[in-house]
Amino acid sequence: AKKALIIGAGIAGIAAAIRLAVKGYQVEVFEANSYAGGKLSEFKQDGFRFDAGPSLFTMPQYVDELFTLAGKKPSDFFSYQKLNELCRYFYEDGTTLTAYASTDQFIAEVSKQTGEAEGSVEKYLENSRNIYNITNHVFLESSLHRLKTYLNWDTVSSVLRFGQIDAFRTMNTANETFFTDDRMVQFYNRYATYNGSNPYTAPATLNVIPHLEQHYGAYFPEGGMYSIVSSLAKLAESLNVKFHYDSPVEEIVLEKQRAKAIKVKGDILQGDIVVSAMDVWFTYHKLLKRHPRLFPKKALSQERSSSALIFYWGIKKQFPGLNLHNIFFSTDYKAEFDHIWQHRDIFHDPTIYLNISSKYKPDDAPEGCENWFTMINVPANTTQDWDSLIAGARANILKKLTRILGEDITDLILCESILDPRSIESRTSSYQGSIYGNSSNSRFAAFLRHANRSSKIEGLYFCGGSVHPGGGIPLCLLSAKIVSDYLPAL
Ligand code: FAD
Repeated sequence: AKKALIIGAGIAGIAAAIRLAVKGYQVEVFEANSYAGGKLSEFKQDGFRFDAGPSLFTMPQYVDELFTLAGKKPSDFFSYQKLNELCRYFYEDGTTLTAYASTDQFIAEVSKQTGEAEGSVEKYLENSRNIYNITNHVFLESSLHRLKTYLNWDTVSSVLRFGQIDAFRTMNTANETFFTDDRMVQFYNRYATYNGSNPYTAPATLNVIPHLEQHYGAYFPEGGMYSIVSSLAKLAESLNVKFHYDSPVEEIVLEKQRAKAIKVKGDILQGDIVVSAMDVWFTYHKLLKRHPRLFPKKALSQERSSSALIFYWGIKKQFPGLNLHNIFFSTDYKAEFDHIWQHRDIFHDPTIYLNISSKYKPDDAPEGCENWFTMINVPANTTQDWDSLIAGARANILKKLTRILGEDITDLILCESILDPRSIESRTSSYQGSIYGNSSNSRFAAFLRHANRSSKIEGLYFCGGSVHPGGGIPLCLLSAKIVSDYLPAL
């Protein structure tokens, strides 16, 4: 059998391993860490369990598809439930807004809490669906770098409607035309952060994201987010994929311009194809550093997405007013993004995202307690003074939560861990600690992401959040599919 060598056991690497094993490849995965999952990992502390990275699970069908592909029943390995409430929003003016999964219920809630006309949300979601229908096939499910994509009727019909995807104004500008109420503009601007971008510069095409959440729904994996990884790793193993942990790949070995082997702990391992499922920037700068003339300079010089600062707090109380996903909005959203993208620091009143998995999985926290994943968006790591930024942010977050929840939160913290851009960068080799690869702040971003196959190095493929079609679990899973679509079944 032909051998596929995969670098990185994040969600994309595991998905690629499954797809290639199903195609008949003998697959070996090399992972620098002692565990699978990369950014999608978990840890335990003082009786609490925390999902360390992603907390929002959308498009579960892309996970199910991997089990089905391997001839297994998804629910034998992995189960999840659909959320009735997508998220609870808290504004500083005292408004609370629950984003219900049911569109009718949500529309009624918006009109009750903000007075916004019912028709506005409907019109908004219609626009979002239209953008999805035009862009989905071309931008997400296919390679943008393959002639076949453009010779397809779906593509042609999409291209003919490109005028409708709203690429020439920003998300914020578009959102201001849909809503009269500032709270609703802020509500929909937030979707830019789903791929680490800035709603005041990102093209309004990203207004496609609300459709994904409102129409396809959000889910909670019964075993927590990490069960996505553990069940897929189990599936891969059942297909004879071999995982090597604590095995950082040092080099991709080329013969002429063909990827022939990888170097791990000084050993050279031969393969027929190499799939880099690690960050594309480090793939070139670390593993291919002897071949600078083969670097795709433009793709590697794009602006990176934002990063995250997370406080994982074990809290000795339960808050019935909170749910799985909660947002505490900044009073000045524009200023918050100016700090992230221009000043490259942290605004004194950041928007706080609070995820509490123990709401759905009670054994994630001791009795009477909750596991708080408290996150704010921060700039990518360009060697800021993080220690002082983190200390300031921590104080501001505690002040804000204490004010809105009417309870001194500092007193309730039993244990704490912190993840910041530096640790995201060092733990997963993600350039600048960005969490979604490149930003989508320019309307050309989609075309400037690295392709899923190298045009210069034969036998070298790429998947994961830093290459086409982009970051986030669903897109990472699609990137692995595009890689496997390049390769014939054996
Ligand atoms: P990674 O998970 O980064 O995996 C790459 C792997 O490669 C790592 O395990 C790394 O150790 C390994 N590696 C690197 N270099 C080498 C080497 N030289 N040799 C061997 N192995 C190597 N997405 C969502 O869908 N929903 C969310 O709610 C969400 N929230 C997020 C919150 C946070 C805090 C973070 C950090 C991310 C979030 N994301 C979310 C994004 C999502 O986590 C990523 O897009 C996705 O997990 C990336 O997967 P990946 O496989 O591409 O990369």
